[in-house]
Formats: sequence, C-alpha cells, structure tokens
Amino acid sequence: MTEADEDWLRQRVIDAALDLASTGLSPQMSGNVSARAGDRVFITPSGVAYTDLLPADIAEIALDGRILSGTFPPSSEWHMHCAVYRARPEAGGIVHAHSDFATVLAVMKRSIPAFHYMVAVIGGNDIRCAPYATFGTAELAAHAVAALEGRRACLLAHHGQIALGPTVETALHLAHEVETLSAQYWRALQIGEPDLLSDEEMAVNVEKFKNYGRRG
Ligand code: 13P
Ligand code: ZN
Repeated sequence: MTEADEDWLRQRVIDAALDLASTGLSPQMSGNVSARAGDRVFITPSGVAYTDLLPADIAEIALDGRILSGTFPPSSEWHMHCAVYRARPEAGGIVHAHSDFATVLAVMKRSIPAFHYMVAVIGGNDIRCAPYATFGTAELAAHAVAALEGRRACLLAHHGQIALGPTVETALHLAHEVETLSAQYWRALQIGEPDLLSDEEMAVNVEKFKNYGRRG
C-alpha cells in the first residue's frame, strides 16, 4: 500500500467519523470507526472529538492491537474492531455508534426481529442484541463477534450498535440502516407487537439483497 493510499484510507475513516457527528448517529465522542488494509487497522483515536481529527491522529494498529503509528492512543474499542476483523476476513470497515433508537432497544436487550423486509440487508432474519460487557474489553469483543455471526451488524446491550462492511462507507451505510430499522421497530412497538415475516420469506429477501443495487 502506497503512502497516498494510506492517507486516503485515513481520510475515509475521518469522513465516516464526521458523518457520525454531523448526522447525530453517534453523539459527542461516542462510537468509533476503522478501516482495514491487510493486517493493519486504521482506527479513530480514543476520546477525540471527530470534528478535530487530522489524518495523523488516526491510529494504526496491528490485528492483535499493537500500536504501529498515530498521535493519540487508539479507540478504547480496539479489541472489538480487531476481533471482528480477525473473525470476518470480508470486513474492510467497521462503524460502532451509540445511535438513539438502536441504543433504546439495546438497553432493553431487544433484538430486532423480521418485522420489515429490510432487516434482511443485515444478513438474516434478525439483528441480534449481544449480551452486556464493559466497554473496551475483550469480553465485549467476543460477545460482538458471536452476535455478528452470519450478520453485518448487531446491537450491544446497554451500549449501542456495531456494523461491518467490505468498506468503511458500507459499514457506515449499514449503521444508518440499523438506526432506521430500530426507530421503525420502536415506533411499531408503541402500537403493539408487529407480525413477523416468515423465515422462508426472509431467506428470499437475503438472496435478493446479494445482487441488489448492482448493475449488469
Ligand atoms: P473511544 O472514544 O475510546 O473510541 O470510545 C467511545 C466508545 O463508544 C466506547 O464504547
Ligand atoms: Zn461505545
């Protein structure tokens, strides 16, 4: 990877972090963003306001968490980012957010069932809620990896959500999808428990999403 490519990747991590701030997807300094290049991870620094970030502030770490470069220490959630990358070779980007509605469901330990066909965009017939563990721990990382099995996002009990994708932009897009679905599910729950789509129907939707949005 050339220096220019590295700079570009750092900038894409910053752009995603700025999106978290500007859209309100993750308030204040909550949440974190990373992108993977081979066996290296470029991740937002811990406790730095996104609007202040410069490319050199993005920490570069190995997949085992060793710090390789950066002005500030990496996000406290480096265990979670590294564990997901190790478990999911297809992951090129990760976004973790404390978005409002996802967090509301997560504090109630509610997974999101197949109340809407768009749940399938995450990879299956539900979006699981991982059990609680202290932020920044290997235990939380293990819970997240398990809840993400066969999925591209999950909720984190009493905490928020995490999404992964082939690129950091896709991970960000999916984090927004999770927030939209969480808001819709929460609103539906105000009226009652919605009927759910069958496993067969959701399997059809998962298949359709494999080619959705691709031309030719
Ligand atoms: P960092 O600022 O260390 O990335 O922590 C934010 C967070 O969301 C912890 O779960
Ligand atoms: Zn967090």
